[in-house]
Amino acid sequence: RAKGQGRNQVCDFDPKLGMMMQERRMLEADLALAIEDDLLTLNYQPQVRLGDGSIAGFEALVRWHDDRRGAVAPAEFVQIAEETGLILKMGEWVLETACREAVNWPNDRRVAVNVSPAQFKQGNLVYSVQRALTNSGLDPARLEIEITEGVLIDDEARALKVLRGLKDLGVGLAIDDFGTGYSSLSYLRAFPFDKIKIDRSFITGLQNDQEAQIIVRATIALARDLNIAVVVEGVEEFDELGALGYQPDLVLQGYLLSRPLTRGLISGFDEASKAIRAEMATLVASAR
Ligand code: C2E
Ligand code: MG
Ligand code: MG
Ligand code: MG
Repeated sequence: RAKGQGRNQVCDFDPKLGMMMQERRMLEADLALAIEDDLLTLNYQPQVRLGDGSIAGFEALVRWHDDRRGAVAPAEFVQIAEETGLILKMGEWVLETACREAVNWPNDRRVAVNVSPAQFKQGNLVYSVQRALTNSGLDPARLEIEITEGVLIDDEARALKVLRGLKDLGVGLAIDDFGTGYSSLSYLRAFPFDKIKIDRSFITGLQNDQEAQIIVRATIALARDLNIAVVVEGVEEFDELGALGYQPDLVLQGYLLSRPLTRGLISGFDEASKAIRAEMATLVASAR
């Protein structure tokens, strides 16, 4: 650093920042290559109906294992993909792969696919979804698209057009991370959603949080009256389930049931999860 030029110096260079910028550029480049070379994979987290313990479907969650870095957190690289535009290509890969793999599951199981804001806004999402369905032969009713509330606020008219286009294909629509964004109850009326996923932040420690219980129970009751299904995300403990009131029409997704599974573990999940699913269904039945 040059002496005496103080804080107004323009070319002041912090080596740490430089490293971060370089690391970031390398991450971007490696991510681009990983997408190009088909090095991403999908894990699938099970969703179970509380009422009878039956398996409703799985959420596809993208994974990137880099040789040098190890497993990179999706929250991190999805964000980078968003900022660089790589998300369009990655998003199409996720859609194509999820549909192709889900075709081999029992045909009463759905696959949920996350669509990021940039993908929703920039891409031709309806066309991408249609193509993934056609290429795979997956029944559209078995595909569910998850979007977050944030994508709805900027341009409601366009959002509605895209959602209607998806609906016309016959796919399901879910609001992800419900309650964390610019939640507006009017969205439930204005947009054709079939399902909301109550965010994990409301569920964690629910048994000790009176206010969260009031909010979650009211949300569930509201959704029920509007004929919108409810998934509770991030359930890790039986006590959280108890605080939800053991409501039979809920769908549960969380570590209590299962972590996201690699593709090869899906066919064995029915058997492996029999005990926990039966336990949940019994609890719900005895709470009636
Ligand atoms: P999300 O869509 O809300 O996915 C749920 C996240 O919560 C997953 O994290 C899942 O592993 C985690 N989770 C589920 N149950 C529990 C639990 O009981 N406890 C805890 N602590 N965590 C739980 P993951 O796989 O790391 O993904 C993080 C986020 O990255 C996702 O949140 C989603 O926003 C994004 N993402 C993941 N895959 C994709 C993808 O294919 N496309 C896009 N656009 N975004 C994706
Ligand atoms: Mg999701
Ligand atoms: Mg979520
Ligand atoms: Mg999330």
